[in-house]
Amino acid sequence: MPRRELLLEDADTRDLTKLAGYEAIGGYASLRKALDMERQAVLAELLDANVRGRGGAGFPMGRKASFLPHPDDTPKPIYLVANADESEPGTFKDREILLRVPHLFVEGVVIAAYTIGSGHAFIYLRGEYLAEFEVVTAALEEARAAGYLGKNVLGSGWDLTVVVHRGAGAYICGEETGLLESLEGRRGQPRTKPPFPAISGLYASPTLINNVETLATVPKILELGGKKYARIGVENSAGTRVFSLSGNVVNGGNYELELGTTLRELIDEIGGGIPDGRELKAIIPGGSSVPVLTAAEVDTPLDFDSMAQAGTMLGSGAVIVIDDRCCMVQLGLRVAQFYMHESCGKCTPCREGTRWMVQLLRKIEEGEATQGELDVLLNVCDRILGNCLCPLGDAAAMPVASYVAKFRDEFQRHIDEGACPFGGESSLAGVLAPVDQHDAHLRSQIEVPGIRAERESLTEAHG
Ligand code: SF4
Repeated sequence: MPRRELLLEDADTRDLTKLAGYEAIGGYASLRKALDMERQAVLAELLDANVRGRGGAGFPMGRKASFLPHPDDTPKPIYLVANADESEPGTFKDREILLRVPHLFVEGVVIAAYTIGSGHAFIYLRGEYLAEFEVVTAALEEARAAGYLGKNVLGSGWDLTVVVHRGAGAYICGEETGLLESLEGRRGQPRTKPPFPAISGLYASPTLINNVETLATVPKILELGGKKYARIGVENSAGTRVFSLSGNVVNGGNYELELGTTLRELIDEIGGGIPDGRELKAIIPGGSSVPVLTAAEVDTPLDFDSMAQAGTMLGSGAVIVIDDRCCMVQLGLRVAQFYMHESCGKCTPCREGTRWMVQLLRKIEEGEATQGELDVLLNVCDRILGNCLCPLGDAAAMPVASYVAKFRDEFQRHIDEGACPFGGESSLAGVLAPVDQHDAHLRSQIEVPGIRAERESLTEAHG
């Protein structure tokens, strides 16, 4: 399947961070088109496009927007919230969109707000994304000065304010109701649902929450028309996605591909395969929270249904490649430690269960576990699954249970041999690497002079 770019099209050859550059390729034409349409007609385009959320859950964006009341039918203000709290391990694609095509994202925010009849939009930005904050803030200023947001947007009589709110570094604030709590100034803990945000979200008002990539797709849907957009990709998985490829692969980075491209095409043809002549062992296809696939499943297409049939998920679009040096017990421990640390503590299965998982995995990894403790680990995973208030508990239990199911022999050898069979040779290098390694990689990918200069000056200014 050929590589296809919609969102990042032109970003390699032009500086699209500035309004002039973005307008030169037809930027904000989709907003003009939308403002000439009735809100319901814009919504119909989103429904026709059948675009599914790019944040992780994959819920169709148009349907989500259709759950909100019409502005004439509610006395409350309606809010749009852009979820830019990207923090799923392995995922670094929203930051590329924010850094390289910020006006595309801003245009998507304005069109989505218009569609639902909102006069107030919030961008909840991951606190660590300093450069992204600077680039998006500058884009908003330019857009405001040009009349694309603010009072009387392009003479339409409709007003829109957009506020950027920086988070404080909690993974759980990427969960939509935890995000809303944080945005309201409280501790970022998920809410019980229902009510869903479409009915009672920010300040108990109807709220649409969409991921950065989802919103950046909106201008392209308006440009092409919903029905034409729906023909890109495969059935039930329309369009393109920006996949974050990392781990044991030659050319890691962000690649925008048509949905339905296989993992093999991404890893071998685009990513250059496994380095150092090593063997592919496993693939995490959608961020650290999803079940793992084995090397034998490398021909699975990257679309929602194929991933579900394979027992996993497309998730956040982070494809993590694992070669034969990696100890799956160590990997499970690293994943469990992350979710234990990020658990907000509100519900018992997640708060206590993730700690049990870490303790048991550490004993197995150190070769000190009994056979019964491997069974206890699976039992703990089972008791977490489906019993938590938000998806974080499942995000810890699902991957670890899948590592045991698909690589049980490795867990067994730790117990039988009383030590890690990989010994000093075991390596997680590059697999779920700390964010600064991805950051360095992303910097190396960005060749647009304007962005490079801006990043360098920001680095100088902020260290
Ligand atoms: Fe908090 Fe974990 Fe419960 Fe989610 S599942 S509400 S993160 S304790």
